[in-house]
Amino acid sequence: MIEKIVNPKELREWEGKIELYWIYTSGKAGDEFFKKLKEDKFIASKCKKCGRTFFPPRIYCEYDFSDTEFVEISGEGYVRAFTVARLDGDENPMEEPEIYAIIDMDGTDGCLIHLLGEVKPEDVYIGMKVKPVLKDKSEREGMITDILYFKPS
Ligand SMILES: [Zn+2]
Repeated sequence: MIEKIVNPKELREWEGKIELYWIYTSGKAGDEFFKKLKEDKFIASKCKKCGRTFFPPRIYCEYDFSDTEFVEISGEGYVRAFTVARLDGDENPMEEPEIYAIIDMDGTDGCLIHLLGEVKPEDVYIGMKVKPVLKDKSEREGMITDILYFKPS
């Protein structure tokens, strides 16, 4: 937290949650990813030197610092790990449990953490093939929530 108080009258205390302001940018590669997502496309980035394919995409290879190029991927993948949430953020029981999974993205060396849907917790397994379900095109905002969830494929 970077804060510079120049006017002593600005000093105050908070009750409850502390107010914090920040700006998050997804960067050049992240921006491209979200633009493509709005067009029903998934992209990763492939290192021009070593061939590693990064997901989420990056503008340079973190192993040899070489340039990368964007490549289109299917957006499908496999469940590497998952957990089932039965309590909400306030620790109240949820009507329906939510399943969070680490999904290894096909054709890449990367993964994504997202919700699973259209499947019961007891039917999820490691290695399960999944595909993304996106919001309606008119409702997409260029955010990770444009992906509603992944479902078994
Ligand atoms: Zn590389």
